[in-house]
Amino acid sequence: MTRIKKQDLCEVHIVKTVCNMCTNHCGINAYVQGGKVVNVDGMPEHPLHRLCVKPGAIPEMVHHRDRITDPLKKENGKFKKISWEEAFEFIADKLTHIKNKYGPQSVDIHTGNPFIATQTEKVIRRFADLYGTPNYTSGGGVCFIAKGIGSGLTVGGLIAPYVAEGSKCMVIWGKNPAETFASEIDVINDNLLKGSKLIVIDPRRTSLAKRADLYAQVRPGTDCALALGLLHIIIKEGLYDKDFVEKWTVGFDKLVEQVKDFTPKNVEKITWVPSKTIRDIARMYATVKPACTSLGVSMDHSSNGIQAIRAISTMCAITGNLEVEGGSMLSNPGLMQKNLRLVDKVVKKKAVGDEYPVFSKFSRETHVIPLIDAMVSGNPYPIKGFLCAGCNPAVTWPNQNKFKKGVKNLDLLVVVDIFMTPTAKMAHIVLPGTTALEREDLRDAYHTHENISLFVKTNKAVEPVGNSMTDWKIWAELAKRMGYKKYFPWKSTRELMAELLEPTALSLEQLEENPGGIVYMENACQRYLKNGFNTPSKKVEIYSEELERLGYDPIPTFHEPLESPFSRPDLAEKYPLVFTTGARSRAYTHSEYRNIRKLRRLRPDPLVDIHVETAKSLGIQNADMVTVESPKGRIKIKANVTEDIHPNVVCIQMGWKQANANVLTDDERRDPISGYPEFRAGMCRVYK
Ligand code: SF4
Repeated sequence: MTRIKKQDLCEVHIVKTVCNMCTNHCGINAYVQGGKVVNVDGMPEHPLHRLCVKPGAIPEMVHHRDRITDPLKKENGKFKKISWEEAFEFIADKLTHIKNKYGPQSVDIHTGNPFIATQTEKVIRRFADLYGTPNYTSGGGVCFIAKGIGSGLTVGGLIAPYVAEGSKCMVIWGKNPAETFASEIDVINDNLLKGSKLIVIDPRRTSLAKRADLYAQVRPGTDCALALGLLHIIIKEGLYDKDFVEKWTVGFDKLVEQVKDFTPKNVEKITWVPSKTIRDIARMYATVKPACTSLGVSMDHSSNGIQAIRAISTMCAITGNLEVEGGSMLSNPGLMQKNLRLVDKVVKKKAVGDEYPVFSKFSRETHVIPLIDAMVSGNPYPIKGFLCAGCNPAVTWPNQNKFKKGVKNLDLLVVVDIFMTPTAKMAHIVLPGTTALEREDLRDAYHTHENISLFVKTNKAVEPVGNSMTDWKIWAELAKRMGYKKYFPWKSTRELMAELLEPTALSLEQLEENPGGIVYMENACQRYLKNGFNTPSKKVEIYSEELERLGYDPIPTFHEPLESPFSRPDLAEKYPLVFTTGARSRAYTHSEYRNIRKLRRLRPDPLVDIHVETAKSLGIQNADMVTVESPKGRIKIKANVTEDIHPNVVCIQMGWKQANANVLTDDERRDPISGYPEFRAGMCRVYK
């Protein structure tokens, strides 16, 4: 335990650091008194300092009485406290046993959201390499990377999923920044005050949709058809930049052919969006310039997601809205820190996710979804160990009944977390990690939603609670027990950080002098004029030879969701409603924070949105407990009867262990290119 100095009992001091409660990483001032965080507000020096509601709960979270404070080992179904020494010894023995019996590939090592792109992730990857497993996975296997794949294949980089300042026409597609990104809402409001137009495309009529000039209530999973419908109008009415198309695109002629049948009338049948709205959106987007698109992660979670993102990227490019001030900007690459990988140590075995080569190329990791198959079936080889840091797959991964079956086949499940999550409850060993306020991190904001190349060193506000350990050190200590000591030489976090910064122009001292971070690269418009686009042809690849070579549709192509009333009419009688999952709430990130009272008060219950007419026909009233059943399972959940959802669609909130939407989802319905599961579309029935 840290000794508190006497003067600390009354003095309040401010520690400038970063909020890690979601991936936005806003700058915060943490007020510390007597060794405790007592308050948090925005750090004016940081470009993102307009905070949402979550950091108000940081003091409660950091000092929560349910924090895991010691390593825990399960014995006869119950956890008992053990020392770090015992924990490391147990894990090292098991890992060695698995390696000898099944090979190193039989262990998957996984990093969750809190550590992606931090030094902890880099240390974990070095550990995985030394162990020899090709199976390193991260939260990127179910979130965010697909967007980079779709736009990367088309325009050579990630189109920043963020509204640009000064945009005259903002398209918010499958995203609800009013619940997720307070800073983006500020930009939207500023632009609206200056007369910008707002278009919202979402299966739910969100609060932002109610303020929109145009709103499309799209059927879940049909965004690609809608985008092709918009392209149909844009091409037919000549609303595209002919000069750009001629000089900078590949495959426009094939696109003309492709969208021919995507008339507003046909697209209305597919998407349930009225044909007039489709026409109006296409005309507004293509003529009110500059226009930008801000895509949510919902697009990624579809069996046709990559093609939808490719169609929308194409639309940005051919209308002259790409890489222009106020339009859709390409994100900069991240800061090149020292690479800690030791790939030559990895066993020459196929990773379980090798069936998704495009995902592997863009992410440089294996895919989590095929891992579920391997855990259950033992194919292509058994998965016997799963080490997971800051992730809760027992709530966030699809098809929970199958996942639980897979966990039963593991010889070793280790979870590093701050609370006893549903995944931690299943573990053999639980290790107490830290909150962001108890450690220092290097944070590169390039991969977050804001289009800003900002590098920050975060600061420790308080000491880790109990016997919890700074997260990168957990892996370095375990590595020593595995005999890898010489590869983990750092005696302190500062030493590790200094090594990572070696190839950069930044130093720790500079970063510490600038707690709001250092912008290491400015955004620039029309960079393609100098070097072309970052694609094989150096042009916008409406037609991708790379996709063709790999056996995928080379131009944006609509495919019906794999489970819908149209693709599975055989299921329609039993499961007449379409369900979508994954809607975010301002109080939570994924499965986190339901145990934080201050946040739980804001959103106390998991809800399913049901249209008033549908509810009436089913005899359901607002706040009734109902059962939602899909071909994969059933959950009980409270009904939210509303007019803001289509009568044939229900929307189930994600992240609740109390009503786990992922009992209903299916891991095997996937986008063929990204491998992402179809979280956002499926079939169900609802009854009391
Ligand atoms: S958006 Fe909210 S939760 Fe996310 S980093 Fe910013 S303040 Fe924290």
